[in-house]
Amino acid sequence: MATYEYLCSRCGPFDVKLAIGTAPRIYGCPACAHDARRVFSAPGLSRTSDAAAALRAREEQSREAPAVVSGLPSGSGARRRPHPALSRLPRP
Ligand SMILES: [Zn+2]
Repeated sequence: MATYEYLCSRCGPFDVKLAIGTAPRIYGCPACAHDARRVFSAPGLSRTSDAAAALRAREEQSREAPAVVSGLPSGSGARRRPHPALSRLPRP
C-alpha cells in the first residue's frame, strides 16, 4: 500500500491509500464525490521536525569535520561519587 495525494477543487487535499501502481489520475473526493486530480509532492520531507533535522545535520557534519575539543566540558569538574557496590567490596 502507498499513500497518494489528491486535490479536490471544492474541499482541498486528501490522501488515499492504494496498492502501489494502481493510483488513477482522477479519484472521487470522499467528502463531496467531485473529481479530484492527483498531485505530487516531496515524499516525507516536510514531516521531519526542525529539531530532528538539526540533529541529523549536526551528526552528518560530525562525520566529515568533527569538532575539535580543547578542554573538558563544563560541569565535569564536579566530584563523582563512587559506585555504591564499591563499598561492599572486601578491604585489605
Ligand atoms: Zn471534495
